[in-house]
Amino acid sequence: MSDSTITPWVVGNWKMNPMQANSQQLIQDLKQYLKQTPITEQQCHIGVAPISIALLPIQQALLDAQSPVKVVAQDLSRMAGTGAYTGEVSGELLKDSQIDYVLIGHSERREIFGDDVEHVKAKVLNALNAGLTVIYCVGESLEQREAGQAEQVVLQQICDLATVVKADQWHNIVVAYEPIWAIGTGKTASPEDAQAMHAQIRQGLAQITAEGKNIAILYGGSVKPENAVELAACPDINGALVGGASLNAASFFEIARAFAKIKE
Ligand code: PEP
Repeated sequence: MSDSTITPWVVGNWKMNPMQANSQQLIQDLKQYLKQTPITEQQCHIGVAPISIALLPIQQALLDAQSPVKVVAQDLSRMAGTGAYTGEVSGELLKDSQIDYVLIGHSERREIFGDDVEHVKAKVLNALNAGLTVIYCVGESLEQREAGQAEQVVLQQICDLATVVKADQWHNIVVAYEPIWAIGTGKTASPEDAQAMHAQIRQGLAQITAEGKNIAILYGGSVKPENAVELAACPDINGALVGGASLNAASFFEIARAFAKIKE
């Protein structure tokens, strides 16, 4: 079981949404909710992951937010530093723009954009070396779950991670368990199934590093205000990576409240 001192994380993955004006409105609405009911950094880390060309405008819009909201990149290059890599943004360049957080290994990157294990590992390595905090996504497909391979697939992804994280870098790792069949489908893993996988991940991490008991493990896959409270009650679910519901400020705020409440 996790250390009860883990501060939860609730991160909104906006994916390839929305238009600039709508993203500004979304942030203004979120700021308004946080003004009415602040959520401290000790209660919950809140993050939003906009499209790359909205990272800096959103960061700017958040400067006067009542509660801190982290700006998270949805991806980064597997190439480090600077150089002749058209269309790419490295960890160093994100850091140079004060973007300190990045999602890596989201199933959409792995499945649609060909991020294989070696690419994902290179991205983690570069992100950590640039000083970023990585939200590392793992999860099994429906076929793998039905074949009874879910645990093996997910633990292998944790082992992949362990090959590139140095002993003193684990504090910059957050894990997000996202069963692929639950992403954007409206299907959520039951809290029992999600907790069972999170406990396995926790055990796997604890075998790899003494930091394992302190690493936040987020659940992702059709998280909504309606299921957030139950998920937040699970001992090894330390937050949520939220897709669709993060595009609605009221829903996203409710989810953050559900996780922040457990720290009250
Ligand atoms: C995601 O893409 O990370 C995700 C969890 O999406 P959704 O909440 O829409 O299922």
